[in-house]
Amino acid sequence: MKRILQFLGIFIVVLAAVLIMNTMRFQSRQPEVTPVADVVLDEDALARHLAGGLTIPTVSYQDSARFDAAAFEQFHRYLEAIYPEVFRQLDMEKVNRYSLLFKWAGSNPELKPVLLMAHIDVVPVEPNTESHWTQPPFSGAIADGYIWGRGAIDDKASLFSIMDAVQALLQEGFQPQRTIYLAFGHDEELGGNRGARRIAELLAERNVRLEFVLDEGGARAGGLMPGVQPDVAMIGVAEKGYVSVELTVKGTGGHSSMPPLETSVGILCKAIAKLEEHQMPAELVPPVDQMFRFLGPEMPFSMKLVMANLWLFKGMLASQLTQNPTTNAMVRTTTAPTMLEGSIKENVLPTRARGVVNFRIRPSDDVDAVVEHIRRTVNDDRVQIRVLAAGRNPSPVSSVEAPQFAFVMRTIREMFPGTIVTPSLVVGGTDSKHFSDLSPNIYRFIPVKITPGDLHRFHGIDERISVQNYVDMVKFYIHLIKKV
Ligand SMILES: [Zn+2]
Repeated sequence: MKRILQFLGIFIVVLAAVLIMNTMRFQSRQPEVTPVADVVLDEDALARHLAGGLTIPTVSYQDSARFDAAAFEQFHRYLEAIYPEVFRQLDMEKVNRYSLLFKWAGSNPELKPVLLMAHIDVVPVEPNTESHWTQPPFSGAIADGYIWGRGAIDDKASLFSIMDAVQALLQEGFQPQRTIYLAFGHDEELGGNRGARRIAELLAERNVRLEFVLDEGGARAGGLMPGVQPDVAMIGVAEKGYVSVELTVKGTGGHSSMPPLETSVGILCKAIAKLEEHQMPAELVPPVDQMFRFLGPEMPFSMKLVMANLWLFKGMLASQLTQNPTTNAMVRTTTAPTMLEGSIKENVLPTRARGVVNFRIRPSDDVDAVVEHIRRTVNDDRVQIRVLAAGRNPSPVSSVEAPQFAFVMRTIREMFPGTIVTPSLVVGGTDSKHFSDLSPNIYRFIPVKITPGDLHRFHGIDERISVQNYVDMVKFYIHLIKKV
């Protein structure tokens, strides 16, 4: 007994020493940089450019019959009117009529081009919520230091700040060494198959290979990361996959006064309940484990100790992260039942009960693994399982060791001193997914600053961006393009 206690004592001391040593050696991965010199811009004019763009309702509706071609054409004319230099000096082509591709030829054709992306379309304003907006959603109002409207953050701020940066650089006679492409898809909110995907195919046909791609996805988060005081710039180096699966159960139909012991609705609901109870496993896989390696050194000692010793605490941390929907989405393939259908009348048994479950697939899982998980979990031959439309596997994970990643990281810190930069996983989808054959370095980051109060505004009510925030975005792209 004494020997065992002695052994245990030694074990604990050694373990503590290892944990503490790892923690001491856990150095910050943030590069030291010299902040960039400020540039003077006409801030009112910049704000008006974006505000004008927000008045044009380039909405992506689920029902394609509602597509408003005139709005997209008006948007093109508006861009041409406010960015005449860009349209004169860059090659512009319309792809599939409504998406735009600009090429700014660099002086050194040996260098691989860079692609900056944004999207023209916005999500609809939910009917009957217009009156809840402080400023009408398509007014493009500039008030209280903010530019208001649908698309103010997602994603017209990005599109306009890129255009403003290019125009400012053209006006001062700047000529890039490296070719720069600007790609603005028109159906990102519907998956980008008509816009960004066609642009990617076009560039592939022309044998274009890209140094890196920069699209939306991550942002500068203020006060959103527990344990980290400074702003955290999250560069999405991967995005999750997507698949919706239909479950159907056939019934006999008939009068509800003499139901069978098990109804089709009951069988279906049990299957869905099983899927909720037995979720796919939560694990720290790239790039989420890498995120903690970047954030950990910036955290207080106790949290740092955990992050520095993921070899031991990985499992514990992953299960802790499942407690909250936001972090749960980062560690596992999520299960979201979204649709249910049964009988057409309250006293009629359905001949078919149908449900749809939407899964967002984490890197290192894939569509096949999800379908296999459903079959095993439901384990009931009466439930038919069918994958709806084409599922999409998660994107490849771009390497955080690549010099291109270090370049973007430095650029962010030069522009926003003190900001902690980290790789991250984008849990939604972006247009950049269509470009993974053109470059291994796909980054999803816009330099907009997001605070906790902003989170409900995307795709929601009162979407807005502060004028200061917008001007900083323009400065970021000016700095990036100059450096690239
Ligand atoms: Zn977007």
